Amino acid sequence: MKLTFYGGAGEIGGNKILLEDKGGKVYLDFGESFHFGEDYFYEYLAPRTANGLEVYFEFDLVPKVPKLYSSDMLKLTDLKYEKPDVDGILISHSHSDHMNHISFLDESIPVYMGHGAKQILDIYSKLYPSFCDYGEHDMHTFKSGDKLKIKHLEIMPIHVEHSIPGAYGYIIKTSKGNIVYTGDLRLHGPKKALTEEFVKKAALAKPYILLCEGTRMNYETEHNFTEEEVNKKVDEIIKNSKGTVFTYFSMSNVDRFNSIYKAAKENNRIIVIDTRLAYVMSNLKDKVDFPDPLTDPNIKVYFRFAKSCTFNEKDYYIWEREYCPKMITHKEIKKDPKKYVMFLGFYKLMELVYIQPTDADFIYSMSEHFLEGEDNEEMRTVLENWMKHFKINFHKAHCSGHASKTDIKKIVETIKPKLLIPIHTENASGFKEFHPNVKIVKKGERIEV
Ligand SMILES: [Zn+2]
Ligand SMILES: [Zn+2]
Repeated sequence: MKLTFYGGAGEIGGNKILLEDKGGKVYLDFGESFHFGEDYFYEYLAPRTANGLEVYFEFDLVPKVPKLYSSDMLKLTDLKYEKPDVDGILISHSHSDHMNHISFLDESIPVYMGHGAKQILDIYSKLYPSFCDYGEHDMHTFKSGDKLKIKHLEIMPIHVEHSIPGAYGYIIKTSKGNIVYTGDLRLHGPKKALTEEFVKKAALAKPYILLCEGTRMNYETEHNFTEEEVNKKVDEIIKNSKGTVFTYFSMSNVDRFNSIYKAAKENNRIIVIDTRLAYVMSNLKDKVDFPDPLTDPNIKVYFRFAKSCTFNEKDYYIWEREYCPKMITHKEIKKDPKKYVMFLGFYKLMELVYIQPTDADFIYSMSEHFLEGEDNEEMRTVLENWMKHFKINFHKAHCSGHASKTDIKKIVETIKPKLLIPIHTENASGFKEFHPNVKIVKKGERIEV
């Protein structure tokens, strides 16, 4: 049995782990690193649609593995196309760092993912067709507890809690014993019971190897904010605000939407979402606890100025028109600013020119790396300038989609694998504090059991 770490080793994200066992060959995720290409590409100096994998192979950004990629992607490379020998790609959840590079793969390779993850993929492909083209793979969907069989490998996906619905970990029965793969998970949100169930089943499997995520292993002492605390903080900000409260969070973060929605409702405010978020909610509401934007009286849908400037439905995409009956525009918000909590992304800040907010607040509720990382300095300055210009009070309220170090310790100590391999972390050696047999792997490294 062999494991090759083409990504997700020595870095947070970009998981691409090949498992080979007695003729069975599967990948655990096929994601894109967060810092993908940033050493060589800059603004318009970036691969175009005419480019294939030759650009990425040149800088060793994508592993040069035969019998894996599509003929189209290989046409200008020195790797000749051969029929793939991979039996399947097991996706843990639909974040880009776990699935983005599927677009390079030969379409004959089957892809496995949870029902919820597939639905999110379909929604994003509709909303952002040019970014989300993953090809026509044979997509096998599953639900938690299903038993998949790929060659002789028996695979059980089990749901976990993360910052996106439809997230799974896997227990895989191989000829050398069980392997447990956590994907990304946390234990401090409203659905922590899912992760607890996964950990329990993983422990019962008495695994030989645990591939465990460690995103937050670097932060020893930070406070582990829970989703409940986010709700409290947001509630406090809304209660004290004398104007409109604007907020920005990831559209697929259902728990975050619900925290903010709850706080808005408790303070007798209407939550204003954009058409994209409305579309995401409508299409996921049967799978997760999103309210229905078309019928919920506490939700209005914001329509921006378009072509005619008359808010005529013909100005909008066909999928947006469904929400016209729930339409709200800058005029109503400007007239009664205290009545609303409005979802407003960075790229939608232009609306403030029309809303002309006074005494407003902005709650930034996305992952911290945008506000703290060096890479985003220019964007951050622009955001700050907008806040200053409109005299908007800026707040942060966020909790991570990843388990704290303390919770990772608990997970490892409960599952008790013989061998622990840290992945999706920049602090693999930190795992040695709570397991006697930790194998630290480098990118590209292959281990044999
Ligand atoms: Zn991840
Ligand atoms: Zn993730």
